[in-house]
Amino acid sequence: MMSILNNLPKFLVLLCLIGCSPENETPVDEDDSMTSEVSTNPSLITAERIINADDEPQNWLSHGRTYSEQRFSPLDQINDDNVSKLGLAWYYDIPIRRGMEATSIVIDGRMYTTSGWSIVYAIDAKSGEELWVYDPEVPRAWGRYACCDVVNRGVAAWGNMVYVGTIDGRLIAIDAATGEESWSVSTIDRSKPYTITGAPRVVNGKVIIGNGGAEYGVRGYVTAYDAVNGEQLWRFYTVPGNPADGFEDDTQEMAAETWNGQWWLAGGGGTPWDAMAYDPELNLLYIGVGNGSPWDRDKRSPGGGDNLFLSSIVALNPDTGKYVWHYQTTPGDTWDFTATQSIILADIEIEGSQRKVLMQAPKNGYFYVLDRKTGKLISADNYVPVTWSTGVDIASGRPIEAEGARYPDPEQPFLQFPGPFGGHNWHPMSYSPQTGLAYVSAQELPFIYGKDINYKYSPGEWNLAIDFSLSATPDDPAAAKQVDELIKGRLLAWDPVTNKRVFAIEHPGPWNGGILSTAGNLIFQGNIKGEFVAYRADNGDQLWSMQSQTGVVAGPVSYAIDGEQYVSVTVGWGTIYGLVVEKRPPVSRVLTFKLNGDESLPGVVQAALVIPAPKASSASAEQIADGRQQFHQRCFMCHADGAKAGLLPDLRAAASRDVPEAWNEIVLNGALSASGMPGFSSVLTPEKVEDIRQYVIERARVATAE
Ligand code: CA
Repeated sequence: MMSILNNLPKFLVLLCLIGCSPENETPVDEDDSMTSEVSTNPSLITAERIINADDEPQNWLSHGRTYSEQRFSPLDQINDDNVSKLGLAWYYDIPIRRGMEATSIVIDGRMYTTSGWSIVYAIDAKSGEELWVYDPEVPRAWGRYACCDVVNRGVAAWGNMVYVGTIDGRLIAIDAATGEESWSVSTIDRSKPYTITGAPRVVNGKVIIGNGGAEYGVRGYVTAYDAVNGEQLWRFYTVPGNPADGFEDDTQEMAAETWNGQWWLAGGGGTPWDAMAYDPELNLLYIGVGNGSPWDRDKRSPGGGDNLFLSSIVALNPDTGKYVWHYQTTPGDTWDFTATQSIILADIEIEGSQRKVLMQAPKNGYFYVLDRKTGKLISADNYVPVTWSTGVDIASGRPIEAEGARYPDPEQPFLQFPGPFGGHNWHPMSYSPQTGLAYVSAQELPFIYGKDINYKYSPGEWNLAIDFSLSATPDDPAAAKQVDELIKGRLLAWDPVTNKRVFAIEHPGPWNGGILSTAGNLIFQGNIKGEFVAYRADNGDQLWSMQSQTGVVAGPVSYAIDGEQYVSVTVGWGTIYGLVVEKRPPVSRVLTFKLNGDESLPGVVQAALVIPAPKASSASAEQIADGRQQFHQRCFMCHADGAKAGLLPDLRAAASRDVPEAWNEIVLNGALSASGMPGFSSVLTPEKVEDIRQYVIERARVATAE
């Protein structure tokens, strides 16, 4: 509370700026206010309201509901006794057929959510009726810089505005009543391949936003903007810049001592693209930092080094953006091991004493419990099988690396668990203070790390320095099946005190949804097969499920209106796993449930995919092999492993038509760049493009012969 008191004068000014000025008042439509339960004049969001979010459990005021980001709802009207009566209350169709990762915000009967291309929707949370839609009109060509689909994870609310970060790097304030843009700032150097997919957070009147782009070569940072007018207040860089330009402060100088070579040329990475949490008593903002640019440390920082603050949790003073402490989960990251996964704060008893802890289950496979005041490691145990390391030394806080895990020899690739998809990715984790358990969307996805011996930094392009084709699914069906059997996904209930699995629910595959826990002894999670499921929070018994007709990856929320509890989730397939591996119907919706809800979804019409049988080809085996290698370096992140088409147009159908001129116009010269398919003339020769075409024709031949 001290921080609020210290900031009181500024806070009052802020309230007055947004609430006292006549031109900011929203006209109330008389008829509307008679017939609708939803106020046309949305209530103001203040620091007090978010800090005391438990006083209004009917709302979901911020990304993780509270600043602690526990994603635990104190509502218990829907509970383990009656959840079998849960039914659909309403659904809201979203026309954008890209991944749906948003956590909805719900304030006094109004819901705010987002879809792909950073579009914001305001919905009557009781009836599902649309109130307004705000489209930031992101240039579709920017989609080439999105490593993992053009997704968005939701808005933040403050004052009478909602805030969205756009895939092309803008931060926009929108009037919550009308959907009109209030202000917009560019948070990036627009010549660089940055993206924003994460939800902003607002702390002490400052909108905090990070960025993504470490797969392409950028320098990560978080920035704070004045919530009222968008003025930039501070910026914290997560990796140091070129020493010749001068360091921003002592912290950057300290970080630079852990780097070698000319790391700044490819940016260094460290993009903080998702997790944040805030402790108002300590007045500390916690951010999760991403992987390095490029992935291979030998190419990024020759000679080694920890490369601060890659793969770290960093505590900042939210008023100044100054560094307070850091804990690095993966020193010298060389595996895309981000620490951007959910950060959850809780006060728990460990070995007889009450501790203020921070928990995270980042990609690298260890579940960390830290003292959130000091950043000191309390415990770290693997929550999924881990082969890159044999454990974490608690005294030093450092992992003990396994022999060969840094794939030093180009001839000796390293098969590893977890890989770049992570033992857990961005899918929100939840912690229930009632059961004392953390609930993680965990997975086992092996990956073969090996050097890209031809790596050379190319600005604005995919810059990993590793050979992705090593991990492409084998063309041989028997070998592909063997790989498939290694892949697993589960809902994991983890005790952060004993560091043990309490129960696990095995799913048909990985990439399952984020998790909500509630005081009704329930947890809710969607899964890769499109089911949205309720389980008992204490033992994992399945109690209810509903088929969503698509895949579910987002984090659900719960709220109440007029004394009735709702559970809501955004559904829709896409995201990185949808683009690369698993195909599901791309139906995007908000689904909202209540007891005895009796709405039903319309039927699904799925057009059958037609791949024409290709003509005989004179391509050599070498040409096809080279095309396969090139495809898995340049194309598969959008057009799927083995060219099997996830979400985007099936290239096998296009290649089969055998029109090389059109293929070249698109792949080399960017004829479809306005639709999001860039030209690759800066990195691919016409010969390489023809090799890729021959590889895809060969895949079409295999598909039509099946
Ligand atoms: Ca990454």
